[in-house]
Amino acid sequence: MTPDNIIKFIREAFKQPEAFIPLHEPCFGGNEKKYVLDTIDSTFVSSVGSYVTRFEEMMAQLTGARFAVATVNGTTALHLALLLAGVKFNDEVITQPLTFVATANAIAHAGAVPVFLDVDRDTMGLSPLALQTFLQQFATINQDGMCINKKTGRRIAACVPMHTFGFPLRIDEIVDICAAYNIPVVEDAAESLGSYYKSKHTGTFGVVGTFSFNGNKTVTCGGGGAIVTDDEEIARRAKHLSTTAKMPHTWDFVHDEVAYNYRMPNLNAALACAQLEQLKTFIENKRRLSESYAAFFTGSEIAFVQEKEPGRANYWLNTIIFPDHKCQQEFLKESNNQKVMTRPIWRLMNKLPMYNTCQTDALENASWLEERIVNLPSSVRFN
Ligand SMILES: *Cc1c(COP(=O)(O)O)cnc(C)c1O
Repeated sequence: MTPDNIIKFIREAFKQPEAFIPLHEPCFGGNEKKYVLDTIDSTFVSSVGSYVTRFEEMMAQLTGARFAVATVNGTTALHLALLLAGVKFNDEVITQPLTFVATANAIAHAGAVPVFLDVDRDTMGLSPLALQTFLQQFATINQDGMCINKKTGRRIAACVPMHTFGFPLRIDEIVDICAAYNIPVVEDAAESLGSYYKSKHTGTFGVVGTFSFNGNKTVTCGGGGAIVTDDEEIARRAKHLSTTAKMPHTWDFVHDEVAYNYRMPNLNAALACAQLEQLKTFIENKRRLSESYAAFFTGSEIAFVQEKEPGRANYWLNTIIFPDHKCQQEFLKESNNQKVMTRPIWRLMNKLPMYNTCQTDALENASWLEERIVNLPSSVRFN
């Protein structure tokens, strides 16, 4: 199978014989304009307004979490989630190196140091075996019940698994392993809105989970994020910390701690509500696209990544795995030259200058995937 064969197939699938085909463009087919105009007419475009509350209710309903709190983007949601899980300055947080840089940045924003452990090849998410092996070798529980890294002396304060491209990882095993070491799980579900594991929504397995509504995600509101949790105190604190820790008062400015302005504006929440109403339709449409990709690649030397039981993916970004690095590079070059937007997977976090001194394991699977993965155009198709 040549790059040209694949490019031809993509152009046919999107009914675009010549025009540029983006990787993932937003689809505004519902009440977007109506709701956004509504916020403008009401003048409530900023951090107070009924759409923020409505969006939070919709997110709780959709994910099955008891509480949802809107934030200004996914990175801030993750930053707050880490703080609320108890992460403090100079702690360590275990995550995967195969992720978007926001995951590692949020850990750094919380003052902590990431530890990068390998992923499973099939899910592309944090590997339970890698986690278990690392903790057996390096972790000890001190007399206060805290998990300490014997190598660095630092506390391992949280674990952040990430559901890559919307494919659910083995989250129940990760949660069980972490429980044995008193490590809270903060799930980065930025890419997995509408993805389930054992019929439970991703992002609801840990103490707290986070989502992103950036322009390239399955559902977008320009920029936005959400924190979900079943813990009432965490939800209350998330709202308080994201709104400058202002104490409720009719007119007075009393703030009781150093906090953040991380609240989602009502303008964005309006867009988010209209988009969430269409999530089911988007995912059905995306699954049809992924089925046609799967059929196309069947029997070829290129593997098309599919959901693994008991996970159900949202197929946010369709993903192929080339047999080697050379094929990956050739295809990236050819497709982008021909205005069909494709992307490699992110550079591993431990290779970036700001994270290259962080502790890792051998990262065999992550390195293998990094050299071979390409994301294909995955937008919801209008035609
Ligand atoms: C998109 C994304 C985020 C959050 O990104 P924002 O642009 O801040 O909304 C976090 N983690 C991962 C893995 C992501 O893909």
